[in-house]
Amino acid sequence: MSFDTLGLSADILRAISEQGYSEPTPVQRKAIPLVLEGKDILAGAQTGTGKTAGFALPLLQRLSANPVNNGHNGRRPIRALVLTPTRELAAQVAASVQTYGRHLPLQSAVVFGGVKINPQIAKLRRGVDILVATPGRLLDHANQKTVDLSQIEILVLDEADRMLDMGFIHDIRKIMAMLPDKDARQTLLFSATFSNEIKQMANRLLNRPELIEMARHNTTAETVEQRVHLVDKNRKRELLSHMIGSHNWRQVLVFTRTKHGANHLAQQLEKDGLTTTTIHGNKSQGARTRALADFKDGKARILVATDIAARGLDIDQLPHVVNFELPNIPEDYVHRIGRTGRAGNEGEAVSLVCVDELKLLRDIERLLKRELPKEMIEGYEPDPRIKAEPIRNGRNGKSPSQPRNQNRGRSSTKRSADAPRKSRSNRSEEKQTQSKPAHRHVKSGNSAPKRQSRPGRIQEVPALLGGGFRDE
Ligand code: AMP
Repeated sequence: MSFDTLGLSADILRAISEQGYSEPTPVQRKAIPLVLEGKDILAGAQTGTGKTAGFALPLLQRLSANPVNNGHNGRRPIRALVLTPTRELAAQVAASVQTYGRHLPLQSAVVFGGVKINPQIAKLRRGVDILVATPGRLLDHANQKTVDLSQIEILVLDEADRMLDMGFIHDIRKIMAMLPDKDARQTLLFSATFSNEIKQMANRLLNRPELIEMARHNTTAETVEQRVHLVDKNRKRELLSHMIGSHNWRQVLVFTRTKHGANHLAQQLEKDGLTTTTIHGNKSQGARTRALADFKDGKARILVATDIAARGLDIDQLPHVVNFELPNIPEDYVHRIGRTGRAGNEGEAVSLVCVDELKLLRDIERLLKRELPKEMIEGYEPDPRIKAEPIRNGRNGKSPSQPRNQNRGRSSTKRSADAPRKSRSNRSEEKQTQSKPAHRHVKSGNSAPKRQSRPGRIQEVPALLGGGFRDE
């Protein structure tokens, strides 16, 4: 099936073919005709499925088919708003809108925090049809009356589950109050996962939506080969360097749980001679953009990232994702590995799992409704005498009784736009919860497995799971 059967205009089809897309992805096939008909949609599309073009192409088409005159203030009104949880996703969506709409007489802009607001104000003043925004900075503009959302015809909530996870619900409510009612606009909600909260949000914001479900909820892309390597915590870095070196991986995205962990790991990998950069919430927007560019250009072979910073990252044909540490929230696993295997490309996701993380692994498998294949690498077998310990998060392993104020020292208007105003306590980037010590006792093996003389060979794992490493 080709794009030209979907009812898109010649100018849009030209932009698509210039992108080298030969046929629509499944989500595009379903979403484009519905959006063109003016329907609201609730789409459970996975990340990497081509969902951005799924909403951007018909949105561009609808706006260009009904040009409007300048509004009462002599400026063209903002007619479409795309809300995204992170700056990176906002930048990427804006770039896609720009690319797909390059032959159309429509103006688009992006606003997010961490950068100066004045150039954004100047751009908005010149007149914009489509605005891509993170919620915090959009509210800053609204408070300064530099944006008028009363003429919005199409609203897109992209990665809505992430926005809720990041505590943006209050910001979203405020933004909704500035928009036309749900029956006077078209609303498209995209979410990788469907929680009850998302369903409630959909009930409030959507008008008799068409449901688009591309994959079972909370599943991972089938093109991603997933496996788990069981390894002791203090040998993970060594194993990671070994895997990267021995397989000659050229581009690897590595996830840690905390910002401090990301920095520390990056330093160690650099010492191992691997060019590494990091992306996390403590970095300025400029440093984040640079890190991503270095990684995309191949100047850095490894990008170490935390969950929130990495959301929405779109890296063409990223072959390898490594979970250096498992996420505390199982859904984050789905998001992390969704960075690879995008748009039908093959990808590989490897999780390095130590005895402390077996409960997290079980939670992830429960979410995925399947067991992940487990392997040991010869020479890196876990020591069965090591007992599970509670997972400590953050630099000092703070406990939940020491909450961290994310916006410390910042006034609400200075707050970076993609930092949540109110964050659910368990969703901050360095999550403060200590997981229960899931594996207090480990059947003691008699001795540590002997280190092999030639490390690196893969072993099957059942013996290990049946033995001292078992989650009890
Ligand atoms: P998304 O899920 O929107 O983040 O898109 C994932 C990747 O798929 C992006 O790099 C897009 O450029 C690419 N993509 C989107 N649609 C197509 C298509 N029809 N054919 C090939 N690649 C596509």
